[in-house]
Amino acid sequence: MDRLKREGLGMTSQRTRNRLIQRLRDGGIQNEEVLDVMASTPRHLFLDEALAIRAYEDTSLPIGYGQTISQPYIVARMTELLLNRATSLHRVLEVGTGSGYQTAILARLVDQLYSVERIAPLLDQARRRLRELNIYNVETKVSSGGFGWPEMAPFDAILAAAAPASVPAELKEQLAPNGVLVIPIGTERQFLTVVTRCEDSDRFEVERLEPVRFVPLLSGVVR
Ligand code: SAH
Repeated sequence: MDRLKREGLGMTSQRTRNRLIQRLRDGGIQNEEVLDVMASTPRHLFLDEALAIRAYEDTSLPIGYGQTISQPYIVARMTELLLNRATSLHRVLEVGTGSGYQTAILARLVDQLYSVERIAPLLDQARRRLRELNIYNVETKVSSGGFGWPEMAPFDAILAAAAPASVPAELKEQLAPNGVLVIPIGTERQFLTVVTRCEDSDRFEVERLEPVRFVPLLSGVVR
């Protein structure tokens, strides 16, 4: 890809990106690894050209098919939680690839990332973007109606970018011992939730954090 397009100009430049990073710091994000990766990941490349100038506002934005790219603060917060709580980040699953932005961030912080998406055209586009950014440690799949990617389990950590009404048993089962699931839970009112699988494997600790707003976790595939 064109270097200028990747690095951005004006509203998509490194300076604009740095202002967003300062905003994330002011909002309480402390993990320097997360902040570094976000400072060097061009969010404008994960949006339609018409929306690219808004890429470094701290808001979610439409990506088509009724879905949204997550708000940068939420991406940072969930990634930070994952890094702080997981004991290992060797195999990590993301549910809801969407634009691929959170995928690009996670890929640079974990060894092997698996990412599933139920809307095939969104996944195609995300795959192209990851390739353009030379990110190769991600395996993706159009999810076939279930939740997660049981064939690739167990995972050290799972991050879900869409909200179910309650914690899906299927996702809990895909956690390794000591594995951590970071997921928004709820319908009208949603809360960021951390589920930790205990070492002895069949008990789970559930911690409810701040209110959030995500698109719903749905079953079935869109071709
Ligand atoms: N982090 C992404 C968020 C995209 S929105 C980004 O920043 O772009 C959440 C995504 O989850 C949507 O693309 C939606 O299609 C997908 N999704 C919803 N339910 C799903 C399921 N059961 N399996 C996989 N993906 C799902």
